[in-house]
Amino acid sequence: QARKLAAGNWKMNGTRAALAELEALARAHPNPSVGILICPPATLIQTASAAMADTPVEIGGQDCHAEPSGTHTGDISAEMLVDAGATSVILGHSERREDHEESSEDVRAKAKAAQAVGLVTIICLGESLAQREANNTLDIIGGQLAASLPDSCCATNTVVAYEPIWAIGTGKVPTTAQIDEVHDFIRTRLIQRFGEAEGGGIPLLYGGSVKPGNAAEIFATDNVDGALVGGASLKAEDFSPIITAL
Ligand code: 13P
Repeated sequence: QARKLAAGNWKMNGTRAALAELEALARAHPNPSVGILICPPATLIQTASAAMADTPVEIGGQDCHAEPSGTHTGDISAEMLVDAGATSVILGHSERREDHEESSEDVRAKAKAAQAVGLVTIICLGESLAQREANNTLDIIGGQLAASLPDSCCATNTVVAYEPIWAIGTGKVPTTAQIDEVHDFIRTRLIQRFGEAEGGGIPLLYGGSVKPGNAAEIFATDNVDGALVGGASLKAEDFSPIITAL
């Protein structure tokens, strides 16, 4: 049985004023039965992790470089994330695959580097609307899964997030049958590759327009161990009921 996780991806949103939302979140969940993770922009990681140090709320990054250091202007290494207090990092989000032309091979190299310094890697997969309409969803997800996960993945250092691109920020959510089909497929492939204990223990998150109003139905789906939430993670009053629903 995989552990449960409610993860928030703030994307390119939030200045120091937004730390008040973290304080409110921590106050609302002093003793949660599930993991709570917020991935703010890189500029806030250090202050956020210091502010959340004595709370159950963990802080993560949204990307890292595959190299430990060097001539890569603007990039952040996995070790720097750890140094700033992050415990996890999101990798291979569709917005990075698109905006920064990240391939699954790039994602695998980043994941290997992040796991090597002790970060939990949240590896994102997802099909476009055109790919779904062409009935290629499972092929795309299977390909991304095989190429994006390094062999070093195990139940404690890896989380897989299924985020259909057409559901991100659109208010469109797949049916629970569609989520079930993809999550079941991912679970089967993970067990084939990493074995029952490790592959069966990797949490599978759903992401894409998760809101307080649809979270309970999504969480009732087989092989859904939590959510990766964008817009609804920015305000404690929206994210808190999602955590409670898990
Ligand atoms: P929304 O929840 O805003 O649709 O974003 C989902 C997402 O991309 C999380 O990584």
